[in-house]
Amino acid sequence: MNISFQNSLEYANDCDKNDSLAKFRDQYIFPVNEKNETQIYFCGNSLGLQPKTAKEALNIELEDWGKWGVEGHFHGRKPWFHYHKFLTEHAAEVVGAKPIEVVVMNQLTVNLHLLMVSFYRPSKEKYKIIMEAGAFPSDMYAIESQVKHHGFDYNDAVIELVPREGEFTLRTEDILKAIEDNASELALVFFSGVQYYTGQYFNIPEITKKAHEVGAIAGFDLAHAAGNLNLKLHDWDVDFAAWCSYKYLNSGPGNVSGIYIHEKHCTNPETPRFSGWWGYQENKRFLMEKGYIPENGAAGWQLSNAPVFGMAVHLASLELFHQAGIENLRNKSIVLTNYLEFILEDAKSQNANLSFEIITPKNERGAQLSLLTDSTGKALFDHLIHHNIIADWREPNVIRIAPTPMYNSFLDVYLLGKAMLSFSNK
Ligand SMILES: *Cc1c(COP(=O)(O)O)cnc(C)c1O
Repeated sequence: MNISFQNSLEYANDCDKNDSLAKFRDQYIFPVNEKNETQIYFCGNSLGLQPKTAKEALNIELEDWGKWGVEGHFHGRKPWFHYHKFLTEHAAEVVGAKPIEVVVMNQLTVNLHLLMVSFYRPSKEKYKIIMEAGAFPSDMYAIESQVKHHGFDYNDAVIELVPREGEFTLRTEDILKAIEDNASELALVFFSGVQYYTGQYFNIPEITKKAHEVGAIAGFDLAHAAGNLNLKLHDWDVDFAAWCSYKYLNSGPGNVSGIYIHEKHCTNPETPRFSGWWGYQENKRFLMEKGYIPENGAAGWQLSNAPVFGMAVHLASLELFHQAGIENLRNKSIVLTNYLEFILEDAKSQNANLSFEIITPKNERGAQLSLLTDSTGKALFDHLIHHNIIADWREPNVIRIAPTPMYNSFLDVYLLGKAMLSFSNK
């Protein structure tokens, strides 16, 4: 923790002045309230803000469709025939992968299923999956249906890890021990990169290493990690991962997902998969021949032709990540989140009506702090909304606040603290 932090307007403004990424804030559209006042937005972990460049990017594709009709597949400014390639490099940068290991396609839960088709290949002996308890519901349902699909019983096949008594988050040592304890039966270790509820950043390299030691596959759902952390998926030897583009990656509601498959798997045409025509070897795709030949790399997992409108918006957003640099964003994020923690604790020390505990681990987190509240929590959340501050409420009693480094400022955080000072539960 930076001990020189100050809870003052001057200090926050100074930090913004010295922030080399501050200029990116102006590239985004901020929501307004009914009085047309710009809102302070801390929900980039749930739905990121719209880049101002999105509309033009989308418009180009609408125009090309109008101008070219079907010929846009080859003659558009960005030919749709291989549209996914325009996104691959920047998407790979965001997750620390080689371009061959990444493709943008479908949506997140769909992709998790496709990846489990390839990488959850249970045998009678090795069929168990280790995951965090309280995972994002879609992941729980996906895993539940996968184990059932293979004829296993959920309670037997899925090992859900819970924190120790009195603790809110899992200790890495306990995760590693659980993997070791189940070595002979374990097929897959599957965690989120950042836990959506607690904000805990799981130790991906350590978990992956241990999974491999016991002959299991390591896969991650990076919905809350992509665009948030400085990931190194290839170097960490992660087997597979998928993420969505609409949280920290600011690409709009329900938009496309990205997948990563380690080079050693994705360049092997024998790696099993469900296939479709868009993953077929590209120079022969339109020969419409029998017998599937995959395109090399993660692109060989594509099924359908690319949803270009969504991908155009995603590309516009990825270009901003490329300009800002994921490492620079992460460096700012660490300071900004530490500042948020400082401001929250300072507000609590000044206002006895505030009752919360930050449950996100200090040394394992991205841009989100989760505040565990009590019966006054909902009132505090409403108080923030009343002060034009958008955070998010997760049942039963957590307020999540995410200062994203791309467009949040130190001033935003200071103003949040100021609003907290005036909270009264009377
Ligand atoms: C947001 C999120 C999802 C959402 O899945 P979609 O298929 O994009 O609707 C899934 N898993 C996790 C961990 C998430 O955070």
